[in-house]
Amino acid sequence: MSDSIFETAMAQLGKALQYYSIDTESELRLQTPRATYTASIPVRMDDGSLKVFQGYRVRYNDLLGPTKGGIRFHPGVTLDEVKSLAFWMTFKCAVVGIPYGGGKGGVTVNPKELSLLEIERLSRGYMSAIADFIGPNVDIPAPDVYTNSMIMGWMVDEYSNITREFTPSIITGKPIALGGSRGREDATGRGGFYALEAMKEKLGLGSKPLTIAVQGFGNVGYHFANLAAQHGHKIVAVSDSKGAIYKKDGLDPESVHKLKQQSRELKAAYCKDSVCEIVEHDTMTNEELLELDVDVLAPAALENVITKDNAKNIKAKAIVELANGPTSPEADEILFEKGIDVVPDILANAGGVTVSYFEWVQNRAGYYWEEADVHDKLKIIIDKAAKEVMDLKDEHNTNLRTCAYIAALRRINEAVKAKGTRQNFSSGS
Ligand code: GLU
Repeated sequence: MSDSIFETAMAQLGKALQYYSIDTESELRLQTPRATYTASIPVRMDDGSLKVFQGYRVRYNDLLGPTKGGIRFHPGVTLDEVKSLAFWMTFKCAVVGIPYGGGKGGVTVNPKELSLLEIERLSRGYMSAIADFIGPNVDIPAPDVYTNSMIMGWMVDEYSNITREFTPSIITGKPIALGGSRGREDATGRGGFYALEAMKEKLGLGSKPLTIAVQGFGNVGYHFANLAAQHGHKIVAVSDSKGAIYKKDGLDPESVHKLKQQSRELKAAYCKDSVCEIVEHDTMTNEELLELDVDVLAPAALENVITKDNAKNIKAKAIVELANGPTSPEADEILFEKGIDVVPDILANAGGVTVSYFEWVQNRAGYYWEEADVHDKLKIIIDKAAKEVMDLKDEHNTNLRTCAYIAALRRINEAVKAKGTRQNFSSGS
């Protein structure tokens, strides 16, 4: 297998097509992005020098609606990665049945090396570069790795300056003050938690409290861990890019998060108000965390962390993919043979884009919902998609990823048929 993440994505599609075939023309259309945009973004740095960053936006497929997907700021961003993430967005939106196609954007940058003002100039520069390529009915960005609501706020402001009208529906994940939705901040982690709760009994995890290890303690990993802990599960390990912490009798995710915000250190802690006390714990590497003997492993960072090299050592009973693309196709096969169920990314982390959809709906209606309504509506959507995927597993006896792809392909195929295709106009008819 090469380093191309897009090959991983195509292998997943290829496998699903063995179980659910669509017409060859639609298959062809799913193998390439509809449109790809590459931009150089010049940014004035604080010391007066100029730096040029590479930015991308990919509109992968819009059969089900305008393309939708986040913007990633990360040193590892490449066109291959953005294309793959846009492909996964296509299937993610389809599996939960929201009226979007898939898109994604990114800038190759390490935002940790930039000042806040430099990040603002870069965010505005990126938005200005892609402004003609996106639109509230065309392509709607959102946050992703290392971007957040503050950055979305700058971007909606920049877009509104360009178009000379306030256009909140151009981007989601915004601050509440600029048309953001209540419940968007924790939506991806919450969706993962709802998916786990909906599926755990059928996955053989029973209804007792679970032990959980979370690889990656950013927005998604933190909210997932926090909700799970609040519901009685035991978060035994979490990690960031520097390493992992482990506590057999369970961490307090909220305190760990608070301490990390204050000191940038990942340590087991208990906080009372803003005073945090570090408590005894073990440390380990990210690799060791992945191989812990727990009920649930939740990779919540980047792609390709469970591979053919470590899949055989995974001891978790189930994996909940909060990150996009954390498991390679070879690892998928090994895990399936070992009887380890993988709740796939396109279902497990679909909560974020689902609440983005709610935000877009609220922006267009100009009417804003209570947080409890957002949670209820999200749960309905995730529960329904989880059930559909589990039912397909009973029918096809393949892994959950392939079942999620089948559910998505069914919806995409329905749209293809409803649009009327070339067959209707073929020669001689
Ligand atoms: N970046 C998130 C994802 O990968 C959210 C996308 C969105 O809200 O549009 O699903």
